[in-house]
Amino acid sequence: MHTCTTKGQEKSIHVPTSAFAKEVEKVEGGEAINKCIQCGICTASCVVANATDLYRPRRMIQKIILGLREEVLSSDQSWLCLNCRMCEERCQEGVSPAEIFLAVRTIAAREGHVPRVFKEAVKTVLEDGWMLKDAYTDFQEDEREDLGLNPELHMNNEFVGKLRKRYFERKKAAEESGS
Ligand code: SF4
Ligand code: SF4
Repeated sequence: MHTCTTKGQEKSIHVPTSAFAKEVEKVEGGEAINKCIQCGICTASCVVANATDLYRPRRMIQKIILGLREEVLSSDQSWLCLNCRMCEERCQEGVSPAEIFLAVRTIAAREGHVPRVFKEAVKTVLEDGWMLKDAYTDFQEDEREDLGLNPELHMNNEFVGKLRKRYFERKKAAEESGS
């Protein structure tokens, strides 16, 4: 962000300040990156930041504005956002850090920077139909039966089928194009 003086008054103008900020601005969700005035309300409102000093949404946006591309993309930070949108509700400048981090994840994923835990979660859903491997057990079936509930909880085959089709078609297309 740059500032200029209009009739003696300081006024913010929102000009992309680094090549990376311009790149994020062009990705869906990242459009408002350069409106950020670095006030820090998002960090003060963030549930993850309240739980750990390692996560600071304002600081992450600053790094994007400063153009620290590799540092941001190779970090797991944007993947820690819970997408709860509290920051978005409170930002006075109309910026949604949640949306910005989704845009950063999009760029990171295109370049292969996806944290292992997310890759494994997708793999497990594709193989097993559940997010957590063996999450649904015989014990739960017995419990459901005792409660008079249907114990036959099958995975949503239609959903998993669509997911597999989409995932494998994209993977095949990427392999064929050599990317
Ligand atoms: S609350 Fe909005 S303007 Fe303030 S630092 Fe966070 S994103 Fe930037
Ligand atoms: S959406 Fe993400 S950055 Fe915003 S408050 Fe929630 S966890 Fe924090």
